[in-house]
Amino acid sequence: MATVPLIDLKGQYHEIKAEIDQAIKETLENGRFILGEKVGQFEEAFAKNSRAKHCISLGSGTEALHLALRAAGVGPGDEVIVPAHTFIATALAVWYCGAKPVFVDVREDTYCIDPEKIAAAITAKTKAVIPVHMYGQYADMAPIMEIAQNENIAVVEDAAQSHGAEYKGKRGVLGHVACYSFYPTKNLGAYGDGGAIVTNDNEIAEKTLLLRNYGEKKKYEHILKGFNSRLDELQAAMLLVKLKYLDKWVEKRRAIAKDYSSQLAAAVTTGIITPREMSYGKHSYYLYVIRSSQRDKLQQHLKNERVETLIHYPTPMHKHKAFSEYNNQKFAVAEKITKEILSLPMFPELTKEEIKVVVKAVNGFR
Ligand SMILES: *Cc1c(COP(=O)(O)O)cnc(C)c1O
Repeated sequence: MATVPLIDLKGQYHEIKAEIDQAIKETLENGRFILGEKVGQFEEAFAKNSRAKHCISLGSGTEALHLALRAAGVGPGDEVIVPAHTFIATALAVWYCGAKPVFVDVREDTYCIDPEKIAAAITAKTKAVIPVHMYGQYADMAPIMEIAQNENIAVVEDAAQSHGAEYKGKRGVLGHVACYSFYPTKNLGAYGDGGAIVTNDNEIAEKTLLLRNYGEKKKYEHILKGFNSRLDELQAAMLLVKLKYLDKWVEKRRAIAKDYSSQLAAAVTTGIITPREMSYGKHSYYLYVIRSSQRDKLQQHLKNERVETLIHYPTPMHKHKAFSEYNNQKFAVAEKITKEILSLPMFPELTKEEIKVVVKAVNGFR
């Protein structure tokens, strides 16, 4: 038996090979590789898919966070609230602006920022909060928006893991701006790096447009000190093909998660916790993350049973060497869950047989 992979991107390529190959060929024939017509078409399509006014495509999800924060007015001396449990790019983006990340603990059921703990972290310097829609499930946005409105701070969503998710019947951007990544493994993945912001705010859109292209207003007329952060034409052409399948692929992820959760119900007796889907929305299952107090033993057991797993992510933000100035802080939930979480294989093309192998292996853990 072959190992069940955590993710396999080749199967998906073969499903849509003819369209992808055609898109590459067309782009090469067009001879325009930066900010061409495919970029414009993709932005229009992704804005529509997100039910938003603007989409500005960018070089990566990290850059989307960085430029969105700048466009929202974050600069040197400011503070930005970031969950203690996320991928490090969320916190690094704050750093790139010369601002300071202020970490806040997450909830044990959603793994997203705990809205009840945000208010205590707000100071006169707080400019923004970054809710991360962890593993594909929205953070509870209603109370976050209320705090942000009262405190007059920007809500910059890290939606790198949540393409296709819903919150109270809505999708796309719920705060001031939402930041997406098209890293190859994401729900909508490019064949290389890519990212985008989605917003209904004209000012944020205009500023990001300038920031991504050297602050250039008209050819060689530079009105601010910008960057070079653009989605290239080849990636846009391929993403335009893949976007058509996004909702179908997310539905498949949801069906796989449903299979997992129902078939793993018995594993509760061995202390395994399956993902909790909140009634406020629809999870898009970028990752299917279970928990066990014997995580390392479970991971070894699954490896022996030929099931590939990974930990997203093993270290809370304040415990990284890169953030050594925060090492003495304490975030109890983030510290606890990072010792217990384990991601099972999850991608739309996962077969019933593969799911069976995974389930049998987890249920066989003692
Ligand atoms: C992937 C990811 C990012 C970074 O996106 P890149 O495109 O890899 O730069 C940021 N935040 C979260 C939560 C992510 O999962």
